[in-house]
Amino acid sequence: MTKEGKEITDNQEITEMSETKQTTLAEGAASAARTYEAKAYAAASADAPLAPAAIRRRDPRPQDVQLEVLYCGVCHSDLHQVRNEWQSVMPTVYPCVPGHEIIGRVVKAGGAVRRFKEGDLAAVGCMVDSCGTCASCRDGQEQFCEGPATFTYNSPDPHIGGVTHGGYSESLVVDEAFALRVPDQLDPAGAAPLQCAGITTYSPLRHWNVGKGQKVGVVGLGGLGHMAVKFANAFGARVVVLTTSPGKAEDAVRLGAHDVVVSKNAAEMQKHAGSFDFILDTVSAVHDLNAYLNLLKRDGTLTLVGAPETPLPVKAFSLLFPRRQLAGSLIGGIRETQEMLDFCAEHGITSDVEVIPIQKINEAYERLLKGDVKYRFVIDMASLK
Ligand SMILES: [Zn+2]
Ligand SMILES: [Zn+2]
Repeated sequence: MTKEGKEITDNQEITEMSETKQTTLAEGAASAARTYEAKAYAAASADAPLAPAAIRRRDPRPQDVQLEVLYCGVCHSDLHQVRNEWQSVMPTVYPCVPGHEIIGRVVKAGGAVRRFKEGDLAAVGCMVDSCGTCASCRDGQEQFCEGPATFTYNSPDPHIGGVTHGGYSESLVVDEAFALRVPDQLDPAGAAPLQCAGITTYSPLRHWNVGKGQKVGVVGLGGLGHMAVKFANAFGARVVVLTTSPGKAEDAVRLGAHDVVVSKNAAEMQKHAGSFDFILDTVSAVHDLNAYLNLLKRDGTLTLVGAPETPLPVKAFSLLFPRRQLAGSLIGGIRETQEMLDFCAEHGITSDVEVIPIQKINEAYERLLKGDVKYRFVIDMASLK
């Protein structure tokens, strides 16, 4: 991926770009870029509800597509960011427009755009840009860009200054290299959450080669967990949902689980000790990792995709016996995200969604906190008009 769009002058080596240089470039570009106004929903502060706002978007450059946003999924990260709950790692810049599970229709395609034309559906996930030159970018793992990657919201915006604004908006402009093609077979509302909940679970299941003949655990049956169950089932594994809520058993089976273990039941957990090849832990609340590590076989892996606010204690013995691994994973690269969308089209996989108008977003956040959603809220952005 080249960075011709970055408006870098000839004598500035991309590889030498320090953070300071990037800032200078950003300021230079910020004053040069033309913008237009777009309607959005934004939070003005950590304790303010989301409310209508007007934001600026850059006019599309030759390599950009401009999307009319049709649907945007509601990720728990949106809520964390809006309420500044990740202050120590990613402090929120206000006004904050969240949303990184975006399906839109291309309304403008720049002259250099090759993969999209006006009228096409396109998806945007958690990233809108990356340096394009570091080892991770060259490997197609842009999510780990050393740059770092420009995330869809709350990242410094190198084009118009301030921070990037996400999909709770009528319109979005993105480099086509960070837009995904949406296969026709996919329902656009159900496909929106694939950009975060989908790829976050697909990528680790692929990376750790989950498939036939394996016993795979999914901890937590929420937005991420329900996608993990669908994917692990489609990959041919024996899928066991590990949940604290016995009430979720029936739904887990409907989604593709072969078995359900209530993790509060010590006897039931003990029955499965040492039997799993792989466990994907989607829980972002504080919980006991050792209980899940003990379920793994020799050389089994427990991979975290949730991010509890406080560190979780791990007993060394949970890892030593029998050579278990504890790992983490973060979304997926652009190439893999496209592969996932194509896989979903082929296997008829989408997220189970509850479509809401944008006016219900604050209520949806409260319900999200109570786990009262099956399994993802998706905003119908036509409601913003
Ligand atoms: Zn997300
Ligand atoms: Zn990079």
